[in-house]
Amino acid sequence: MIRITEQQVRLQAQAEDKQGAIRQAGDLLVRSGCIETGYIDSMLQREQVANTYLGNGIAIPHGLPRDQELIHRTGIAVLQLPAGVIWNPGEIVHLVVAIAARSDEHIDALRRLTRVLGDMAAVERLIHTTDPRDIIEALTGERPATPSAVADYTAFFEAVIQNRTGLHARPATRFVELARGFQAAIRVRYGERVADGKSLIALLQLGVERGATIRVSAEGPDAAQALATLQEAIAAGLGDELEPLPARDEKIPGAVPRWAPRSAAAIYSGLGASGGLAIAPLQRYRRERLEVADQPGNPASEGLALQHALDAAQAELDQLYEEVRARLGSSRAAIFRAHREFLQDAELIQEAVRLIYAGHGAAWAWQQAISRRVNQLQQLDDPVLAGRAVDLSDVGERVLRHLLGVSAPGAFPISGPVILVADDLTPSDTAALDPDIVQGLCTARGGPTSHTAIIARSQGIPAVVAAGEGVLALADGTPAILDGFNGRLYVKPSEADLAEARTLQVQLQQQEEAAQGQRFAPAVTRDGHHVEIAANINRAEEVPQALAAGAEGVGLMRTEFLFLGRAAPPSEDEQYAAYCAMARALNGRPLIIRTLDIGGDKQVPYLELSAEDSSFLGLRGIRLCLVYPDLFVTQLRALYRAAACGPISIMFPMIATLEDFAQAREYAERVRRELNAPRLPLGMMVEVPSAVLLAEEFAAEVDFFSIGTNDLTQYTLAMDRLHPQLARQADALHPAVLRMIARTVEAARAAGKWVGVCGGMASEPLGAALLVGLGVSELSMTIPSLATIKAQIRSRSLAELQQLAQRALRCRTAEEVRAL
Ligand code: PEP
Ligand code: MG
Repeated sequence: MIRITEQQVRLQAQAEDKQGAIRQAGDLLVRSGCIETGYIDSMLQREQVANTYLGNGIAIPHGLPRDQELIHRTGIAVLQLPAGVIWNPGEIVHLVVAIAARSDEHIDALRRLTRVLGDMAAVERLIHTTDPRDIIEALTGERPATPSAVADYTAFFEAVIQNRTGLHARPATRFVELARGFQAAIRVRYGERVADGKSLIALLQLGVERGATIRVSAEGPDAAQALATLQEAIAAGLGDELEPLPARDEKIPGAVPRWAPRSAAAIYSGLGASGGLAIAPLQRYRRERLEVADQPGNPASEGLALQHALDAAQAELDQLYEEVRARLGSSRAAIFRAHREFLQDAELIQEAVRLIYAGHGAAWAWQQAISRRVNQLQQLDDPVLAGRAVDLSDVGERVLRHLLGVSAPGAFPISGPVILVADDLTPSDTAALDPDIVQGLCTARGGPTSHTAIIARSQGIPAVVAAGEGVLALADGTPAILDGFNGRLYVKPSEADLAEARTLQVQLQQQEEAAQGQRFAPAVTRDGHHVEIAANINRAEEVPQALAAGAEGVGLMRTEFLFLGRAAPPSEDEQYAAYCAMARALNGRPLIIRTLDIGGDKQVPYLELSAEDSSFLGLRGIRLCLVYPDLFVTQLRALYRAAACGPISIMFPMIATLEDFAQAREYAERVRRELNAPRLPLGMMVEVPSAVLLAEEFAAEVDFFSIGTNDLTQYTLAMDRLHPQLARQADALHPAVLRMIARTVEAARAAGKWVGVCGGMASEPLGAALLVGLGVSELSMTIPSLATIKAQIRSRSLAELQQLAQRALRCRTAEEVRAL
């Protein structure tokens, strides 16, 4: 018996004519891998020589017998056309049952279909049902389990979404764009839920968060290629730019100044979405609401009007994308590409058209379709998706303006500096703001990951979001201070407070400028203790930027980037070229290259390891290299050859036992002897509690330690570093982690060994201060943190930092440490 999947049924479709309907039904067969595209032509040709109208609103188009070789396997696809399409004069079709038959498996379905034919009520039900399973049951006699039981296709890969805000609008747009370039049908599974990989809205509704694993499956002629492309794109961030963000975009908790006015008439608390202090009168941002009356017209001309409005909105979005890209860069502009993608969402447009054919005006129908989707997104109770709801309304309104013939809102009619107060701002609103006029932003709703927040950060406008409805009642012109660091809006502060805030504002500005101006000065404490400052970068092209930001070397080059998102590992020569280029670019400055740290959140397809086998507690880092010696030896050969290009140290990740290190060193030595290369310093990452507990023993073996606070925190506190709900608690400043670090440093010092830190804690001002106080020699960090951390070290004495560290070690909670 034939199997029909939900992917092979399209509900509430519309078609202008019979040919269009046949093409759509044929497309479903192509996407499910049943036929070659050419078979659709064959189906159209068949109509010239035969009538496929079956009766009672049902037609069964199929191709010419001579084109059978264009069929991969027998299949049936169903197009439901509630509004109908003229098949032949006097014959209207509502159900198109397209058949591609290689064998007689479909005969049973046809028999059932003819039985349905005689039952007008049953046909009516099928024409109007909103559940594809009704149609599948009518044709196969079997009802698929539940909608959530949509199966994955047999070819698939799994990937961890590492984007900061999960699979949100920008990366999802990129995914859909890529997916649409393939004929194969693509599904994305997140837990129990499955979405069509070519529908942006469906993908967003999955609510995939950062750190989540999704399964992408595909079926069709180019399925393998589609999967390879999508996997590579996910590993590369799906267009979320890898370029370092500007310094103010980095979350630096320790740098948050704690300031509060002594008297204010009212204080509104929200979330700090963009750091900085703004001092200005409030101004409510008002957007006129578009009134939409239902004015039904001829469905064909209403449909055409919708089409024109969609085209016009798309053209506008293209222009806006180019404008914002020129001004703020492509990552900031990408949201307008996502908006454009919303306008191509077949389900959304189908819903509007269905409403038009049900007797409504185009503007009303569009508004309904949009608001239903917006409500669906809002009901998911997910702050990221609530942000996407704003995007969808924004797009909806753009189209609506064209349908109603209302011009776009002009430039915001304000003069002089203001703090803008709004319910929520759309990306279109925010992109149009002039930072010279708009000193700060405060929204009643929204979240820190909304595009409004992202655009505000990149424009350098301090912002507070989710401050509550109360802010909307504040009168225009009310004096206020907005604290974007701590998420506060202070209303009617006293003159003394205003003066204090202005002073602080100037100080912050000066501090930032001074740190930048002094970025090349070494990080020497006031009492003369020198701390080495290095950058965590992976590519030679990043070296000029790192050096220009004040780096003195590279403390961590993660080599995984060479191995991810590809079908086979890089060759020895390719690796050699990358390592040598890095060493040459550094021109004699120190470079620590870490051997492959695959596993955990970083997976490669060619090792064919399951995510469980190579989980955070499985074959990861050095363990994996020891199980795949070919991979390891190739990398070691490339490293020892590259040593001729500059001073390289080799570091092994995830060392948990003395045997791990001994074996890794043995491989390295063997390779070195084979190549007759010089000895290189061999160090290890300290990122597993067992390595800390055996630090004395390890110190006797290694040339250096580099502490990976990201993993050390995860393994010490047993908190998955990617778990969204544990993000706040998995704090590297927890006293348990600090005591681990202190122990490591003591063991190293006793053995006269060098200790650096290359985990995220080194990029945080408070973290860096504690690390110096604990006796670490080097801090290796992200580029935007370099100048600030160096300036901070210069402003303190070692004695002071040592005292601070001792106090921190005695704390009981991370909160107590942060309060120091
Ligand atoms: C760490 O664990 O702190 C570290 C620097 O390594 P990664 O983040 O690459 O695991
Ligand atoms: Mg690590």
